[in-house]
Amino acid sequence: MSDRARLLAEHLRHRRLLGETEVFCEPGMREDILTRAESLTRKAGRGQATEAVTGAARVSTAASTAGSTIAAPLDRELERLAREGPTAEILGIEDLERLKAVSDACTRCGLHATRTRPVFADGSSTARVMCVGEAPGQKEDETGLPFVGRAGQLLDRLLASVGLGRSEVFICNVLKCRPPANRNPSPEEIESCSPFLRRQLSLVDPELVIAFGTFAARTLLNANESLGRMRRQVHQYEGRPLVVTYHPAALLRNPGWIRPTWEDLQRVREILDDGARAAPGDNHG
Ligand code: SF4
Repeated sequence: MSDRARLLAEHLRHRRLLGETEVFCEPGMREDILTRAESLTRKAGRGQATEAVTGAARVSTAASTAGSTIAAPLDRELERLAREGPTAEILGIEDLERLKAVSDACTRCGLHATRTRPVFADGSSTARVMCVGEAPGQKEDETGLPFVGRAGQLLDRLLASVGLGRSEVFICNVLKCRPPANRNPSPEEIESCSPFLRRQLSLVDPELVIAFGTFAARTLLNANESLGRMRRQVHQYEGRPLVVTYHPAALLRNPGWIRPTWEDLQRVREILDDGARAAPGDNHG
């Protein structure tokens, strides 16, 4: 499949995942899309080509209607969508199921090429507490679930110590795809993936957020401070308390940090018991 055909298939798939029933385009572009979709059908007959045709069948026959055109040249728009995805549309997705479907198909950053599968989230969509980590590791990449393996088991024990079961929290990461060899996320990858996290936060609407580790805290607080400094106070993210603590994987390497992490989670417990939205702190987000 040529690059142009692949981009077209990707674009139409994105639009369909976003629940759109029509793709509006300039009259000349409509013919271009249909011609390419037919060509894809002949060449491949299955997979992306089928999806492209399914999407192309939705290309509006009213494409010449005034006001229904897109301004950018078709190829540039397709390239942008395949590379970045439509941020504004991600932020407008109205349920977690569809948001997950879009993240499963996401190619906004280069990590899509090396992931086994994206890791969207685990836990309750009506949770009082949302736990945000850094990125999937090897086990997460294999299973599609966040915080599994030894770090996940430690997280479960820490949460249980303050009376929170995994089913009572919503757990996700800043990045939905694993960085190769568990390297640190790049700023570009965080920026590309953050619309998914922001939308998860607004859809789950937890009473309180826990940022596990430096990357989660810096992303949510839009800060560049050390974890030690960020731990010193309860912050705010869009009107809800945000507690910063160590990442469970760091605790495995530095058991001496388990005690301060437990103290951070005690603070979480106290805030929840007091009524989370009333807790003081800085406003971020
Ligand atoms: S890490 Fe995020 S932005 Fe990058 S491909 Fe995965 S889901 Fe998309």
